[in-house]
Parts: sequence; structure tokens; C-alpha cells
Amino acid sequence: MADKQLKNLLRKVKLQAIRMKHLSDKELQAETPKLKKQLKRGKPLSAILPEAYAAICEADRRVLGKYPYDVQIYGALAMDAGYLAEMNTGEGKTLTATMPLYLNALTGKSTILVTANDYLAYRDAAEMRPAFEFMGLTERAGVTQKPGEFLSNDEKRENYNADILYTTHSILAFDYLLNNLVKRAEDRFLRDFYFIIIDEADSVLLDGAQMPLVISGSPRVQSNLYAMADFFVSTLKKDRDYETEDKSVWLTERGVRYAEKFFGVDNFFAHENFELNRHVTLALRAHVILKNEDDYVVSDNDEIVLIDNSTGRSLPGMKLRGGEHQALEQKEHLKLTQEQRSVASITYQNLFLMFPKMCGMSGTISDARTELRTVYHKKVLVIPPHRKVRRVDKKDRYFISAEDQYKAALKETLKIHKTGQAVLVVTATIQDTEIFSRMLVKEGVPHSVLNADNAYWEAEIIAAAGKHNAVTVSTGMAGRGTDIKPEKKVIELGGLAVIGIGRMKNVRLERQARGRAGRQGDPGSSQFFVSLEDEVVKSMNREKAESIISGRRNISHFGLKHLIDGAQKTMEEQGVSSREQFVRYDEILRRQREILYAARDRLLDKASIEKSTIQSIVNDNLKLFVKNNPDITDAELNRYILDNLTYESIPDAIRIEGHSRKDQKKLLETLESIAARLYDLKAMSFKNDDDFQEYTRQCFLTAIDDGWVEEVDYLQQMQFVITTRGTAQRNPIFEYSREAYKSFNDMKVEMKKNIARNFFLGDPQIDKDGEMKITFP
Ligand code: ADP
Ligand code: MG
Repeated sequence: MADKQLKNLLRKVKLQAIRMKHLSDKELQAETPKLKKQLKRGKPLSAILPEAYAAICEADRRVLGKYPYDVQIYGALAMDAGYLAEMNTGEGKTLTATMPLYLNALTGKSTILVTANDYLAYRDAAEMRPAFEFMGLTERAGVTQKPGEFLSNDEKRENYNADILYTTHSILAFDYLLNNLVKRAEDRFLRDFYFIIIDEADSVLLDGAQMPLVISGSPRVQSNLYAMADFFVSTLKKDRDYETEDKSVWLTERGVRYAEKFFGVDNFFAHENFELNRHVTLALRAHVILKNEDDYVVSDNDEIVLIDNSTGRSLPGMKLRGGEHQALEQKEHLKLTQEQRSVASITYQNLFLMFPKMCGMSGTISDARTELRTVYHKKVLVIPPHRKVRRVDKKDRYFISAEDQYKAALKETLKIHKTGQAVLVVTATIQDTEIFSRMLVKEGVPHSVLNADNAYWEAEIIAAAGKHNAVTVSTGMAGRGTDIKPEKKVIELGGLAVIGIGRMKNVRLERQARGRAGRQGDPGSSQFFVSLEDEVVKSMNREKAESIISGRRNISHFGLKHLIDGAQKTMEEQGVSSREQFVRYDEILRRQREILYAARDRLLDKASIEKSTIQSIVNDNLKLFVKNNPDITDAELNRYILDNLTYESIPDAIRIEGHSRKDQKKLLETLESIAARLYDLKAMSFKNDDDFQEYTRQCFLTAIDDGWVEEVDYLQQMQFVITTRGTAQRNPIFEYSREAYKSFNDMKVEMKKNIARNFFLGDPQIDKDGEMKITFP
């Protein structure tokens, strides 16, 4: 059905294309203002699509020298219709994207393409820019060319204001959060989201979305619970006190009772024991889940350095969040580093769902269609290749030991290399590239190894991998998005040969590796060498695998395949369920975030705040205070007034008579009248109403931000703790949403208190430049 509609559209585009061919450059360029005008007059986007597509296709040809093939136009149409388009590696997704980007940018609303890394964003932006500029649109890359360089808000605003922006998913997510942390309207730099294309969509939407993105800020008050929790956990026994499965760990009923006795508390899961529970959970994870050498190492200068266990790369400077890092330091008896609070967080899932129009493209996405359907409500459409795939995917070969596996892979590599054909050896981890590289050195085979932690450098090596006699060893992840063009001589010899060593973490990575060969109908081949000692098998089912390795030497080929495929599947499912969990947690946070961000925006946009609004907030606070303090003393009442209303002693006229304190109604009335007077005094202290309004807004904004930071941080911590609760017959999502609801209400009460405090006790000073600086209590 959809297919028929798309094919119809394709015909319409091609009809328009004939007309475009005969236009002069000037006439072609005039299409942009013409189409924009039609949109302004109320024509729907779909009505101008054929012309717009045909116009940018013609510009692609004149400026870039490439005219999009029918399948590329078809893929572009699929994306405009909201699909995730699967188009093989080398099919020309970059050129494909020019069509929907051009069309949607004509609306004048923000049009963005995100991809997996800075290098790709920068490269594709630069390559496509001449075509867009020829058509009179502005286009920018939202990334810095040097890692570690930062853009100013002004530079960011300029980028986001461009008609078309190429950037990465992580920069976009950070910018979204930062944009909602600014204190002044003029510091904002984002426009409302409209259209987004996600390139390398599986990498961005799935692999890159394992964890929510968190901005950390102000330091948290360090607790002394780390040491106690660490000691407690060191006295526990597996299976008796705690159980573990699939990278999670939790206390058994018995363990919980023991914890209650150990720490002298009645109910380990009670709200007031949250911090205790959290620290025990963190210590448990540090001891049971995180493994020295696999997940982290202790460096020479006594610091924890994390390891990315999918690539084996060390991640200097990276820290685990939510106190896990400190728990790990405690376990290793290191000095604890300062724990930072989370000040803002979002999952990529929810970031992308904010775009009214979202679509994507990738060479390997159909394998994850179910997850993409549930999480992103997106359908995958497989686009046929421009030329038939001629690559020969040979049957996997299975081995019991890694030694046999590597020997066989080496033999095959040497055999192909002898012919002059280019060989790309793809491994699962960085360590594996090094092992194989040493084997090649022994054989005297010159080769390149791709293990630099730098996408620019990676791309250069990968691009050279198609040369005659070339041998390149790389991890599956490395050099993604960079095309390997085999030399003519290599094509004549049979194209690029991909040798895969080891089962990868998921099927997508393997298809990605195979897809390096046989691009755009070139010849090529691929074959995987798999063994029971592959990381995937070992990490999932170590005991089972080991018993098979050591016991039965003669396990059948089919038995091996079954076991290894099963391990891979479990690993992928684990990824899926952890991503789903984060999405559901963030769904709860999202609703709160939307309320807060909307309130902030109204304030930044200079919403005027009525006297009655403040008065009702103040009176709510007073009511609560009076209600909660039926037997208040003079001293306590004075303290309250000094802390919340005024630093000065109360004028005689409104002094509270001793006897009226007992009468709650009267006390409230008196306090309300004090507050009303103080309000008037405050308002009168400003020369003009604008300043007074600005002051009031700042009082709100500061109180909102302070409260929200606490809430985000608390909910982040909560996610850690609640995962362990799940197994003690509790539903984690339900618990989480109940806690979140409660803490949100607590936050609102606290915010109101702080708004009033800020208002009465804030001290505004106007400096020489007429800018207001406020000191808050
Ligand atoms: P993908 O992102 O799909 O892996 P790229 O966008 O990197 O592929 O394109 C692969 C190569 O194909 C590039 O060198 C590109 O210039 C070339 N290419 C793409 N489309 C066309 C086309 N219509 N005509 C000629 N060359 C093209
Ligand atoms: Mg690409």
C-alpha cells in the first residue's frame, strides 16, 4: 500500500525532473523562493514535494556531479513519509538525505540530520553544502573539528538557525538540556524542533541509546555511607544473601533481614532509608557486577579507569554515574572522588520523540524492527539496492578453541591476500585486532590496524582498505559510515574480502561488517570464523561454555552453532530490555520535565506575574506552616519570620500578640497581613514595574531550578535502587512512578516555599550598566 503511494510519488518527481533539466541555473535557483511562497500561501508540503525533490536532484547533479538514482529518490520519499529506510552501505544515503532535507527546510522550520559521530557530521555537511547553497539555503555542521573545543551560545544559535544542520545525537541532546538551563532568554539558542533524519539510525537509536544522557553539575555532599555499605557487602554470601543475573544483583529476603539488623533499621525499603538502600545497592554492584580488568582497571596513579568492554578501549576521564564510581573506589580502597549531582537528564528516545517529524536510514536496521516499532513507533522499509548485491556470503565456520579459530582465519586471510585481493579482517574487540595483527607480523604481511580512538583517522585507514594487496584489521564499530572503494584491479580480482573473527554482540554488527564488501553491485565476499571462546559466549554463559570446551571435544558443528547463536541472542535481548527500562523510567521523568521546561520558558519569555499569584503562593505556605505547628513558641515564630519573610524586626503595629498564637485562624490572618505589607514594601522599593517584574521572575526561576535539580538527581538515584527492588516481588516501574509522583509533589511544596523566601529576602542591586544582580537567601 505504502509502496504503491511511494512509487506514484516517484513518478511525479521524475516528471518534474524533465522540466528542471531544461532550466538555466538562475531559473533552477528561483525554484526555492517560488516554492517557499507557495507554502506561505497555504499549499501543503506534500503538494510541492515533487517539484522540490526534482529541483534539489538537479542541483545535486549540477553542483555535486551526482544525480540520485531512482532507489535513492524512493528511499528519500520513504523517509519523508516517516519510515526508517534500510539502504545498504555504499548505496549513497548522504545524497539521498538532500531531498527530504531540502523539502522540509523550505518550511523555514528547524531541519536537522544527526549521525553517529562528529567526523561523519562534519564530512557530510561539507560535501552536501554546495548543493544547498546553490539553491539558496544555509547549511552548517554543529560540531567542532577538534575534540574538546566548545561552541559559544552565539555560535550554537547561528548553527541552529541555519536552514539545515548536520550534527550528532549526543551534541543535540546536550544542547537541548543546556538550552533549558540558561538563566536569561537571550542565552537560549534552540528553535522548536521540526524535522529530523537520523543517519546510521541503528547505531544512534539503539547502540547509542543504552544510557540516558546526564549533565552533572554541582557537587553533592559526600556521605560516609560508602565505607559502611562496602564493609556490609563484603560480609555477604552469594545465593544466601544476594542473587545475581544478567548484570543485575539484589538482596534475597534473608539478605534484607540481615541488612536491617546490621544497620539497625526497621524497614530497609522505607523512604527514610533510601540513602542506605542506595549505597548498599551501589556497593553490591561494585563487588558483584563490575569486574577489575573487564570493566575497569586501577591506573598507576590510583584512579579507576573504565573500559568499554565492547571495544576494549579504555575511557580515561569517564566516570560511572549516580555514585557507582565512588562505590567502586571504595571497593578498591582508593581515595573517593567528589560525587557530582545530576542536574539534567534525558534519554535519546525521548529526545527524538520530541520531533513532530522523525525518520532515519541505515544499512542494518531491519533486524531491530520490533524494538523500533515499540519504542519509537517507527516502521522499517527496506529499499532495494541500485545494483544487485553480488557479494558472496560464505557459511560461518565454527571452532571449539580460539586458537583453531584464529589459525583458520589467518590461513584464509593469507590465501586471499596472495591473490592481491584486498582483505578486511573484522574483530569483536580491540584486543582481538592486536592478537591478529601480531599473527600477521609473524607471517611478514604488511597491514594497517584500526584501533586509534579517533574517527577522522579511522576514516582515512578504512578508505584505503580497498587498495590492491591491502590488509586491514579493524573492530566492527570502527570506521562506520566510511565507504571502502575497491580499486579497479581489486574488483577484477573479486573485490573486497571480509573475514570476521568472532561472533559479534548482535546480528546488526555482523551485517555491517559484511556490508563493507560488495557495495553498489561490486563483487566481494564475507565469512565469519566463530568459536566457543568468543566474548559473547564467554560473557553470557561462562560456566556452560567452559564445561563444553573442557569436556566434550567432539561437539557437533550444529551444537556449536546453536550455542553460540543463543548466546548472541541473549546478549541482544539484554540490551533491548535495559533500553526499554530506561525509556519507561524516562517516560515518567519526561512528563515532569515538560511541565518544568514550559514553566521556565514562560518565565524567560517575560510572562508577567500577578500580585495575586504571589499572594496565593505565600498564603499556601503560611497555611501549611500554621497547620504543621499547632503549639508554636514565640522563639519559633520569630525564627520562621526571620527565615522566610523579613530580616528586620516586625514593626510594632503588626506585632503578634501572645494570645493570638494559640488561635490558629488568627495567627494565620496576622501572618497574611504581615506578608501583604511586606509585598507592598518590596514592590515600592523598585523604581519601575519592569524591574519589579524581572525581579519576581528571577525569584521564580531560581526556586524552580533549585527544586528541579534535586528532583532530577533524586530520580536518577532512584533508578539504581529500584532495579534491585524489582526482584523482591515488587514492580519496579510502579514503585518508581509512585516515588516520582510523591517527590514531584514534595518538590512543588518546596518550590513554593523558596519562591516566597526569594521574593521577600532577595536583595536586588542595579549595577552601572542597569543590569539587575540579585542575591538570594
Ligand atoms: P552510504 O552512506 O549509503 O554508505 P555514501 O553516502 O557514503 O553511502 O555514498 C557512497 C558513495 O557513493 C560515495 O562516494 C558517493 O559519492 C557515491 N554516490 C552516492 N550516490 C551516488 C549517485 N547517485 N551517483 C554517483 N555516485 C553516488
Ligand atoms: Mg553514510
